[in-house]
Amino acid sequence: MITQHCGACRIDTVEESTGPFRTPAGIFADATDELIAPHLSWMAPDYMDADTQMLLFSFKSFVIRTGRLNILVDACVGNHKERPGRPQWHQQNWPWMANLNAVGLTPEDIDIVMCTHLHIDHVGWNTQLVDGRWVPTFPNARYVFSADEYRHWETLIGGSEVGDNVFNDSVLPVVEAGRADLVKNDHEIDHGIVLEPTPGHTPGHVALHLDNGGDTALFTGDLFHHPLQIAEPQLSSVVCTDADLSRQSRYDFLNRYGDSDAMIYPAHFTGTEIGKIVSAGEGWRFDFVVE
Ligand SMILES: [Zn+2]
Repeated sequence: MITQHCGACRIDTVEESTGPFRTPAGIFADATDELIAPHLSWMAPDYMDADTQMLLFSFKSFVIRTGRLNILVDACVGNHKERPGRPQWHQQNWPWMANLNAVGLTPEDIDIVMCTHLHIDHVGWNTQLVDGRWVPTFPNARYVFSADEYRHWETLIGGSEVGDNVFNDSVLPVVEAGRADLVKNDHEIDHGIVLEPTPGHTPGHVALHLDNGGDTALFTGDLFHHPLQIAEPQLSSVVCTDADLSRQSRYDFLNRYGDSDAMIYPAHFTGTEIGKIVSAGEGWRFDFVVE
């Protein structure tokens, strides 16, 4: 759990789970042994499990408190979700809500829920099971979804791409309850808080860009799954909708924010989780915040 500040805003991590996820080649199709070899020394033990050779992933949300708004960024996998095709995410009972409470917040305190995209591990806590029905977890919140992203998955209802049930139990109930705002990919949530298009992983994938008091924070969702992709940005994941566009979005982002003071908050990095992008040789590396 990390508490940071961006200007006058407080930012907390709310973790759901962390651990070995997949081997490099299991998540990045182009991650050959030769490509990975020079990175093994820095990846283990904080970002790769030395025993299994699996990359470590964390699944978490961030909460931004601006003083005017409490904004939840991404909503993890969720509890009690029926995910028969994904044993590690099926009928779970994680302490995510206790972790939200531990940073001093209840569901009633959340004003905005913003999902970087509508994949299975970013929408789960959007809803909770009450008397056998999926209802919005945050009773006072508006939920901000990219309209492009929503339309994409809406057309694939019943398909397997997002895992069975995800759209129907974690997205649609929010829309049906009248709590969703389907927005453009450069939507302004509040002064200094705007969506930034980062398409490719999914068609309407967006980052959240926060400027406050001269500081900048970027909540980048799955633009980068793992710090390996900062050093090797050509690596798109096997679950990217458009691998070429995903790659291009990473190069554009690195060129835009590399060697700046912008603090990057990716959805799945382990260790100290957040950091800055700094140049390294002809490429980039992730300079983690030191705790
Ligand atoms: Zn994800």
